Amino acid sequence: MKFDLHSHTNCSDGELTPEELVLRAEHKGIDVLAITDHDTVSAIPLAKLAIAKHNLKLKLVAGVEISTSWHGFEIHIVGLNVNSDDAQLLNNLDEQLLKREQRAEKIAEKLTKVGFENCLEPVKKIAQGRSISRVHFAKYLLREGHVSHIQKAFDKYLARRGKAYVAPQWISIEEAVHWIHQAGGQAVLAHPTRYNMTNKWVRKLITECKLLGVDAIEAALPRQNKNELMQLLNYAKEAELKVSQGSDFHRITPYTELGKTLELPDECQKIWQDWAMVS
Ligand code: AMP
Ligand code: MN
Ligand code: MN
Ligand code: MN
Repeated sequence: MKFDLHSHTNCSDGELTPEELVLRAEHKGIDVLAITDHDTVSAIPLAKLAIAKHNLKLKLVAGVEISTSWHGFEIHIVGLNVNSDDAQLLNNLDEQLLKREQRAEKIAEKLTKVGFENCLEPVKKIAQGRSISRVHFAKYLLREGHVSHIQKAFDKYLARRGKAYVAPQWISIEEAVHWIHQAGGQAVLAHPTRYNMTNKWVRKLITECKLLGVDAIEAALPRQNKNELMQLLNYAKEAELKVSQGSDFHRITPYTELGKTLELPDECQKIWQDWAMVS
């Protein structure tokens, strides 16, 4: 079976609608797809409807990617198999969405100071009332010709050392794990090697995740060399954590695709091994 347990729709910063995403996943031969939008599960009912409408074989895992703060880093914790109707989870995620709105206001203030005025409303329009992201700011800056590329918008303005960076006040990893577990899900540390930290910190992060109740780490990632995979598998083993895999798909590009090059060796402990849908 082919698994992709990390993907985005336009309910957060992805480009495809939930319907387009599940159709593409089926077309690409994915058997099990998790939709893991940033701080929202609003794509899940839409994806379920689309799967029924088109009579797809695809199995959907209800997921979410929660932003947390840890020693000044923004760490993403993915929840898999959450109950997307859970009232407590929905309440908690509403709090995150409010924080995103408040951060957006502050980013817009900082952008005003560097000469880009009145960008909040057009950025909100790009986000279409969904989970508002720095990506929406980047798209706006690109559209207005203020930058030549999305990556430049991050480097110059939106990333950690950028002129319009706002240090977020996300919840702790522990809290995110609690939100996920109380909604019946499993918690996974997303893309451990993509936080711009030294190996020493990556190891510390993984060790601490185990102590805080995280169930697994993503080990097979897109655009990954064999060493990175082997290292993550070793860290997972050392910390007695399961492993997961996901493309973190946001949009169709020549380099990114659902399920692309995601493979874990047979012997490792996969997060899906005891899932009912797999047996
Ligand atoms: P946010 O959740 O609003 O803080 O935005 C984070 C999202 O922006 C990530 O999930 C990525 O999709 C995207 N992103 C973060 N850093 C970069 C970067 N340097 N270049 C391009 N996209 C980025
Ligand atoms: Mn994203
Ligand atoms: Mn992420
Ligand atoms: Mn992601």
